[in-house]
Amino acid sequence: MKFLVKISSVGRSGCLTELPLPFNNVTFKTPTFMSYTRGGTIPHLTFNTMQRLEDQNMLLLQTLPSVMEFKEAVVEQGKGLNAFVGLPEYPFHVSVQDPGILTPTGYNVNKGVSIWREGGKKTVTVSDFMETIKAYRPASYQALCDSDTPQGCSKKRLNKAVDNSLKFLDECLEYHKNCDELDGVAIFGTIQGGYDSFLRNKSAKITALQDVDGFVIDGFHVNGPDVENVDFPKMKQILQEVFALLPEAKLRILHGAFEPEIMLEAIKSGIDVFDSSYAYKLSEEGEATVFPLNTIPEYFRDEITNNVPKRLKSSSTLPLNDDLYKNDFKPILDKCECYTCKHYTRAYINHLLLTSELLAPILLMIHNLHHLSNFFKAIRNVLDG
Ligand SMILES: [Zn+2]
Repeated sequence: MKFLVKISSVGRSGCLTELPLPFNNVTFKTPTFMSYTRGGTIPHLTFNTMQRLEDQNMLLLQTLPSVMEFKEAVVEQGKGLNAFVGLPEYPFHVSVQDPGILTPTGYNVNKGVSIWREGGKKTVTVSDFMETIKAYRPASYQALCDSDTPQGCSKKRLNKAVDNSLKFLDECLEYHKNCDELDGVAIFGTIQGGYDSFLRNKSAKITALQDVDGFVIDGFHVNGPDVENVDFPKMKQILQEVFALLPEAKLRILHGAFEPEIMLEAIKSGIDVFDSSYAYKLSEEGEATVFPLNTIPEYFRDEITNNVPKRLKSSSTLPLNDDLYKNDFKPILDKCECYTCKHYTRAYINHLLLTSELLAPILLMIHNLHHLSNFFKAIRNVLDG
């Protein structure tokens, strides 16, 4: 995987190319998002409904907790995870934890990382992890890491997360180098240290010296609804300090169901790739995103400050399960070109939600992913001038 970065007076943009076979002709422009999946596929969408998404140039995010159940079957079949889940069209990246659901904390041990799945907790060691990666054949993956640093955790825990993550990265790199099957697959190191500047700097400096293709900035939250507790001004300051220590030409990933305003500020700080767990979270809650895309250039014109970004929350989502929409025959968003907005009204989706019909989250996922995709396109248009 190759990442070409372009720094302009407005900000940072880039292009991901040279993914491993058979995706060597696929490119992704950044900033962008990975399409969040559960159990191998985008939640609520079948292969057919996925074809309703206008943007088919998708990089899927497969999360270890939601796909490791399949490991034995994938090994037995011997064709990788793409073939096993029936989605050979889309390259994927593997993250160690699942940004869409809260990760229980306090269970990591020195010899591995606690991964929570349907059947409970499993401790994953470096060798378990690398065997899984080898069998799954991703385009890229996050090396095993310890991101168990909820806000307010002790300094000892933060230290341990930094040390464990550096140790696991060393061991993953050793395995990766000696494994022919992983030739061309990108490996990402993880920067830890919570909200502690000193530890973040230590983690960034040492990880930057490693032979990695990019970086994941983890440990500001423990996933799921915990992103709402993120101390954004502090996080932004730390992102800026960390990025001053990392090479410009390597990709930077931030996971979590962040609101669009936070993603915009994180992009201004230097993040390249997010995930679509935000679209999933909204769809689960019966909400549709209608964040105004024409305000995006303003965000880039503003001086970069450490203030909390201005909140547009009241106008950025529609709670379609509210009685307010019972007789509202408009589409979710005027002029939206998605399948949902072209065919359905707010009133019908409101009815589907109130009667718990399975079509409701399908229609919401289609719109929310479409709007998120347009949000990133609008950002790239500003950055590309
Ligand atoms: Zn729409």
